[in-house]
Amino acid sequence: MRCGWMNNHEFRFGNTLSFSFDIQHAQSDSLARVGTINTPHGPIQTPAFIPVGTKATVKSVLPEAMADLGAQALLSNAYHLYLQPGADILDEAGGLGEFMNWPGPTFTDSGGFQVLSLGVGFKKVLAMDAQTFRRDDVIAGNKDRLAHVDDEGVTFKSHLDGSMHRFTPEVSMQVQHQIGADIMFAFDECTTLHNTRPYQELAMDRTFAWAIRCLDEHKRLTENRASKPYQALFGVIQGAQYEDLRKKAATDLGALESSGQSFDGFGIGGALDKGQLGTIVSWVNQILPEDKPRHLLGIGAPEDLFVGVENGCDTFDCVLASRIARTSAVYTMEGRFNLSNSRFKRDFTPIDDECDCYTCTHYTRAYMHHVFRGKEIISATLATIHNERFIVRLVDQMRQALLDGNFADMKADFLGQYTHRSGQARD
Ligand SMILES: [Zn+2]
Repeated sequence: MRCGWMNNHEFRFGNTLSFSFDIQHAQSDSLARVGTINTPHGPIQTPAFIPVGTKATVKSVLPEAMADLGAQALLSNAYHLYLQPGADILDEAGGLGEFMNWPGPTFTDSGGFQVLSLGVGFKKVLAMDAQTFRRDDVIAGNKDRLAHVDDEGVTFKSHLDGSMHRFTPEVSMQVQHQIGADIMFAFDECTTLHNTRPYQELAMDRTFAWAIRCLDEHKRLTENRASKPYQALFGVIQGAQYEDLRKKAATDLGALESSGQSFDGFGIGGALDKGQLGTIVSWVNQILPEDKPRHLLGIGAPEDLFVGVENGCDTFDCVLASRIARTSAVYTMEGRFNLSNSRFKRDFTPIDDECDCYTCTHYTRAYMHHVFRGKEIISATLATIHNERFIVRLVDQMRQALLDGNFADMKADFLGQYTHRSGQARD
């Protein structure tokens, strides 16, 4: 184990008073860079993978174990926490980190993606591959949707109890300020790859108008809550697969200032056609201000993380590492496989020989096979620790390779061994 958290329940991250981003190294032959995001709850060395604890918990794993496996920050979801337990409860608790016993930096996703899931994407495939799915597979009929978007905001029905709610840019900012994460995202309208081009334009105009309202409300709340640690606000770049729309969004949001406030960083979101991921991200990152951090929303498959890093993204989040772990699927240097498969019944080797995680240094595939077959709760804990460590460490290794000047070799080595599998997921 890298440190004995079982014996030491005090774990701390170095605190700073405000938000800043320093670049230590910029690659000359690509957009990749190495930096540090400083937040009131400590620094994040970038590039970094940020594990997801949607409802203020990484399912089945203690926060001490997340720190021990190298997680530098956690990302939760404002929409889910607004519905349950309520943003006011987190505010009273002293904010998200305090509430969930995570002393390090935190992020909240604004809810735009969840509204997409309840709206046009309700009960549909949230496809990130334009070729495989037809429009009807992706876009829900008007009557079927639980969310409806207008120019002012979104009205939606709770997936928990059917109650009606309304999110506007102002409400999203109020909710995210109450939740109190170090890094928040502006409320955006997320589209699918199958929305029409005119609709993508409309949604992007709306996202821009909402960005101004988010900045204004953020400024007001920051002043009203001056005793609280500063919360950084990231704008979200939409534009689906269209070069002109992506570039326009990056230009407009990158330069936007309202109430004397500009965005502290940017999220690259929306429908990202996996086949074009690098191209889309490079359109955007060539335009966005260099001195501000860029987060690639919902991307976390190993091969996609290389593409994101070499095209100038600093942080990433994806729920896939923990979600697939609970179904017995693990990432390894041999590719992704399922531990419940009977071929592991007598396999007394670790999940991954090269992994230094708690699970791989203490348990065998045979034990993991046994606990998954027996539906033991510890199966989720151990598999999640391994998968999160695998992805966190991979991005840490990319950072080190950039500093050492051997990123291309490291990438070729990794991808040469790793069996390609794709995946993208957000909660
Ligand atoms: Zn492991």
